Amino acid sequence: MTAPSHESRHARACRVIPGGVNSPVRAFRSVGGSPIFMRSAKGPRITDADGREYIDFVCSWGPMILGHAYPSVVAAIVKAAADGTSFGACTEAETEMAEAIRDCVPSVEKVRLVCSGTEATMSAVRLARGYTGREKIVKFRGCYHGHGDSFLIQAGSGALTFGNPSSPGVTRGSAQDTLLAEYNDLDSVRALFKACGDEIAAVIVEPVAGNMGVLVPEPGFLPGLRALCDGRKTLLIFDEVITGFRLGLAGAQGYYGVAPDLTTLGKILGGGLPLAAYGGRADIMDQLSPVGPVYQAGTLAGNPLATAAGLAMLAEVRKPGFYDTLNRRSESWEADLRGALKGASVPWCINRAGSLLTVFFAAGPVRDYASALKSDTKLYGRFFHAMLDRGIYLAPSQFEAAFLSAAHDDQVMARTAEAVKQAVAGL
Ligand SMILES: *Cc1c(COP(=O)(O)O)cnc(C)c1O
Repeated sequence: MTAPSHESRHARACRVIPGGVNSPVRAFRSVGGSPIFMRSAKGPRITDADGREYIDFVCSWGPMILGHAYPSVVAAIVKAAADGTSFGACTEAETEMAEAIRDCVPSVEKVRLVCSGTEATMSAVRLARGYTGREKIVKFRGCYHGHGDSFLIQAGSGALTFGNPSSPGVTRGSAQDTLLAEYNDLDSVRALFKACGDEIAAVIVEPVAGNMGVLVPEPGFLPGLRALCDGRKTLLIFDEVITGFRLGLAGAQGYYGVAPDLTTLGKILGGGLPLAAYGGRADIMDQLSPVGPVYQAGTLAGNPLATAAGLAMLAEVRKPGFYDTLNRRSESWEADLRGALKGASVPWCINRAGSLLTVFFAAGPVRDYASALKSDTKLYGRFFHAMLDRGIYLAPSQFEAAFLSAAHDDQVMARTAEAVKQAVAGL
């Protein structure tokens, strides 16, 4: 019998799993080749099924802000598991988690725990519709809010990477209720409000866009959304599934000083286990069943393993100086990358917010969906493989963020910058 390879593992998976992946972003379609099968990870490093080690900048698409297999998080999971993995009844850990979120994110007075970011955004929009009695929502082209029907209209992330930002299977009715605006363009939102302002339940936005690559909100954009929503009694939803506990304890809303009505959280929240949340003003949240009429539920919601992991993770990021250190290191990460790319013969630009960063192969500036799409994705594919060959694992798509963790130390960063220099020279 020959030893398995990534190709043979992928071929085996493809026989029973569509495309061999349980989430399309894991496929290597846009960069070419077979996805790498992983076996274990520790700190900033991930090890594949053949035992080869990489420096990991995917970080499970954001959750691993402490690095992989962080000791106190692992210990909390092990301890919780020994006490039973699910009760379907109330636990004090759920209240502790809700209190911790409320304490960190000032706009959140009450919160519901769910199992995925998709569930959080779907539920937040249903709640906004129930609260306002209106049906339409505004989303931004290239933003991704999970795979709920209302959001798969010009969506980012895998939907954008694989060229079907609007999915078949979404009913015309759902599509009609989703209005599209342009990121960083308040006029595009104004026009929608002018046409049908009294029908818009909510504007949902990634305050830092992270799913068409990283796009930073220009000054005035987020405050402008706040003002437009206030003028029409429309709810403003910040989808902070990536930015929550990433840019700081209070997420992007703390970083930019704009408070939404509702917030969705995920990714980091569960410390690597399936946990997400949505929360906001108490009068809105109290529309939820069993207090109010808006229904939302979950058998495994607030699962004891997930809350244990999340609380252990929160205990670390709440230590004084955690984000100062992470953001300062991210700043020098950007400087290193700029140094490595200087004089490159290909067009490039870097967008960064805190520890989220994208190198676009485009002249830039990249500030909206149209400018993100100008990136040379073929070039990115070659860059991706050149980095992989040098032991650096990046997202297999131009339209994703690179994530830094607290475990990415100076040595790791220096090696990465050197690899970028070599990879770019060979393009
Ligand atoms: C990842 C993501 C989601 C979806 O979360 P899942 O846990 O994958 O369902 C929603 N919104 C944003 C901004 C995301 O990045």
